[in-house]
Formats: sequence, C-alpha cells, structure tokens
Amino acid sequence: MAIKLQLLKNALDSSKNYLQKKPVVMSFEVTNKCNLKCEMCYWWKHRIEKELSVDEIVNLFKILRKKYKIFHCTYGGGEPTLRPDVLTKCTKIMPENWIITNGTIDMPKLNNKSTIGVSIDGTEKIHNKVRGKNIYNQIKERYKDYTKYPVYTATTLVQSNKNEIEEIVKEWSKTSIKGMFFDFATPFKNSNNEFFISLNERDKIIDRIIKLKKEYGNFITFPEKGYNYLRKEFITKRSKDCILKWFALCLDSQGKRKMPCGLGKDIICNKCGCITAAFVQYYFKPRIESPLIISNLIHKSLSNKN
Ligand code: SF4
Ligand code: SF4
Repeated sequence: MAIKLQLLKNALDSSKNYLQKKPVVMSFEVTNKCNLKCEMCYWWKHRIEKELSVDEIVNLFKILRKKYKIFHCTYGGGEPTLRPDVLTKCTKIMPENWIITNGTIDMPKLNNKSTIGVSIDGTEKIHNKVRGKNIYNQIKERYKDYTKYPVYTATTLVQSNKNEIEEIVKEWSKTSIKGMFFDFATPFKNSNNEFFISLNERDKIIDRIIKLKKEYGNFITFPEKGYNYLRKEFITKRSKDCILKWFALCLDSQGKRKMPCGLGKDIICNKCGCITAAFVQYYFKPRIESPLIISNLIHKSLSNKN
C-alpha cells in the first residue's frame, strides 16, 4: 500500500510539474573525461576541466529529487563509468536511470531501475575506425550475453554509417540485448558538419528503420510515431516548440544547466536528429490527457522490475 501511495504521489508530482512547464526528467554529464577520443565527438568542443565531487553530486541529486520530484536521470559524459561511485550512489536516489556508455569499461553496481545504453557506430570496421582499434570486440564480448541490467544499443547516424543499419540490427539481434535505437547527428553552428545527413536523405533512412521495425518489432526501440517526428515535414515546428527545453533539466559536470538541451548552445535545432526529443515531443505534446500519460509511464517504469 505504501509503495502504491508513493507511486501515485510521484505521478501527481510529475504531472503537476508538466502542467507548470517544470522539469520532469534530467540528464547529467557524470564526467568530462573519456578513455576514448572518437572522430567527430562534439564533446571535445565543450570540455570543462573542473568536476563536482561525489558528495556534491549526491547532494545535488537529492535536492533535485526533492525539489522537482524528477523521476528519471540519463547519465552521460565523457564516459560515465569512469566515475563508478557516482553511478552507484546516484542510481539509489533516482527511481529510474539510463547510463549511456561507450561499453569499454565494466558497469558498476546500479540501484533502483537501471538500464544501459551502449553506443555502437556501425559494424566492426566502421566502429573501430571511429572509436579505435579493437573497441568493437571489447563491447561485443562484454554485452553479447549480458543480463545483469537491460542493455540497448544507441547509434547516431552520420554519413559514414548510414548504410550499416540493416547489418548491425541483424548482428545484434542474435545477442541478449533488448533492443536498438537510432538517432541522427545534429549539426552545430560554425562547424563544418560534413557528417550531417540532409533532411531529405533522413526521410529515406527513416523509411528503412520503419521497415526494419516491421521485421524486428520492438527490438527496434521507440515507436514508429517517434521516428516519424524526425521527418523533414515536422522538424521546423517540432524544434521551435521543443518541449525538451523545459521537460528535461540537462546538467553539465559542474551541475550547471545546459541550454537549450544537453547538446549545448551551438546546436542547430531545426535540424535536430534526437530521437528522444522526437519521442518525448510526440508523447508529451500538450493535450488534455498528457498528465495521465505521464502518470501511466511513471507507474509502469516504477513498478517494472529489471
Ligand atoms: S566515447 Fe563518447 S565522449 Fe568519449 S570520445 Fe567517444 S563519443 Fe566522445
Ligand atoms: S537540439 Fe533538438 S532536443 Fe535540443 S532543444 Fe533543439 S530541438 Fe530540442
């Protein structure tokens, strides 16, 4: 009974925040450091040397949980597993957690509901070209039979890996991972952006992803409607009203808020390729039943066991 009351309270708090356009979820850059130096990594443009201590981070999480009743955190970096103590302690505070990792370091103990997102850039050849020699095999070995926490792969599509989708889906569908999802790289102002896939070309790739979804079902994570929201016809309006700007509290490794979202201030919103933003925008676009949708999602996520 006590748990049900707590779930109800969480749902009501998040719905109230939503109606007041306050954050419902958060992301946190656990560290500035990374053990890899991938080609095209936007991270190196925004590098900050100073980081918060573990105690400062834990304190910050407790305050945010209490103040905003945030129920979900996505942990990124740099490479978040370089600070295992932060992951272990903070996943105790947030009811639901997503850790985005390059997959080269063992995951520490995670608490509450936690899910792992491993970045995959393509087949072995492409992945190693971007990330470094033998990195692909390390990830494959670590996660192909992994069952401790649910694992998904995340692939950001760029010019060099746009033709790899079918092959990696086929390959990873034979492992224990739960599913795969695909983003499109978003360009930055004053950068050469040669990796960027044009919006016209993007539409054709979305057709391919949706075709795969028909074959592989939910293994292609995120619903078709979310992918459709990345299409050219929606992108201008969606990016102008992007609810992620207030729905998600995106913090850098110093605990400072990043605007307009975790991608940082130089991002070109009307070419946004973020599937999470598209998904959130689709499901949470203001409508009368939005608080009910949030309540249901929270209830579902909190009552599911890993
Ligand atoms: S693993 Fe991630 S943060 Fe590290 S260099 Fe590669 S893309 Fe950048
Ligand atoms: S880059 Fe995308 S997710 Fe970020 S604020 Fe702009 S439209 Fe939203």
